[in-house]
Amino acid sequence: MDELKYGTRNKRGDYLPNRYLSYSPFFLSPVKARAILSWTKGYLIGWNTLFFASALLWYFFVLPHREVMATLQWGWTLKLFAVNWGAIFLFYGFFELRYYRMQVQERRFKYNSKFPAEQPSDVFWFRSQNWDNALRSMFLSVPLGTLVEVFALWMMASGKVPVVEFSDNPLWITLLVLVTPLIHETHFFAIHRIIHIEPLYRWIHKLHHNSVNPSPWSSLSMHPVEGTAYFAEILWHLVLFSNPFLLVLQWNTAAFAAAVGHLGFDKLEITEDSAFASHSYGHYLHHKYFEVNYCDDGILPLDRWFGCFHDGSPEAEERMKERFRARKAKLAQKAARKAAKGTPAE
Ligand SMILES: [Zn+2]
Ligand SMILES: [Zn+2]
Repeated sequence: MDELKYGTRNKRGDYLPNRYLSYSPFFLSPVKARAILSWTKGYLIGWNTLFFASALLWYFFVLPHREVMATLQWGWTLKLFAVNWGAIFLFYGFFELRYYRMQVQERRFKYNSKFPAEQPSDVFWFRSQNWDNALRSMFLSVPLGTLVEVFALWMMASGKVPVVEFSDNPLWITLLVLVTPLIHETHFFAIHRIIHIEPLYRWIHKLHHNSVNPSPWSSLSMHPVEGTAYFAEILWHLVLFSNPFLLVLQWNTAAFAAAVGHLGFDKLEITEDSAFASHSYGHYLHHKYFEVNYCDDGILPLDRWFGCFHDGSPEAEERMKERFRARKAKLAQKAARKAAKGTPAE
C-alpha cells in the first residue's frame, strides 16, 4: 500500500498520519448522532470483540468451579498462569514476528523509521530492547498480574465480596461488560498520571519509557510496582457487584489492549490494498513526547480535560512546546529566587 496517501514522512523519516486523533463523539456539541452511531459500531466490533471472546474462552475452559476457586490451590492458579502466559506470548509474539522480525510490510506506516533491533542501548538488558522488554513483560508483569487476578477470583469465590450473576441482574451485568474499556482507560490514566510525577517517575515509570520507539514486547515492560498497579484495575470489580467473568474480561482487556498501544504501525496491511487502523498513535506520541496522551483515544476525553492531549497536529505540537517553555521559565525563576536568597548581603 502507498503509505503517502494517508500521511507524510518528516526529515527524520518518521511517519505522520494525515488523520488527527480524536475522542469519542459523546462530548461534542451539538450532538452528532451519526458520529455516535459509527463510533459505537467500532467500539463493539473491533479489538473489544476479541477481548470479550477471549474472556468467554477463559471463563468456560480455564476457570474451575467456584468451590475450587474458594481455596487457594496450586492446581487452578498455575493453570490460569500458564494460559495467561501462553496467550500473551502468542498475541504479542504474533505482531513481533510478523511486523518486526519478518517485516512483512517493511517500514510502511511505521511511525518511527527505525526498528528497535537497530538501536542497541545500555539502558536495556543485554543492550537489546527486544530481549529486555520481552523478559520484563513475560517474567515480571504477567506473573504479578496473574497474582492480582488469583486474589480477586478467590475473594469472589470465597464469598468475601458480593457477586452478582447475569441471571440475577442482566441489565447491570450488561452495563458492566460495556464499561469494561472505560474502567480500563480511567484506571490506566489515573495510575499513569501519578507515576509521571517525580520521584515516582524516576523510581518506577522511567523503565517503561526507556523504549522511546516501542514495539509489542514493550507493552508490559514495566517496573514490578507499575505492573501490579496496572493489573489492579480488576480490583474495581470487587466493589462493583460484579462476577468472575467480568474479572477475567477486565484482566484480558488490560493484558491484550496494552499491545494495541505499542504496535508502532499506523495501519496493519491485510492485502495489497486493504489495511486496518491500529489505534496506536496516541500512545506512540506518549512514548515520543513523554508528557502527552496519558491514556489512549478512548471514551472519555481525559487528556483533553487535563490539558495534555496531543492529536498529532502541528497546533497540538505548538501547544505542547508552549507548555514546556512555560514550565522551564517557571523552574528558572524558582532557581533564580533560590540563588538570590542564598547570596549573602554585602
Ligand atoms: Zn507504553
Ligand atoms: Zn508514561
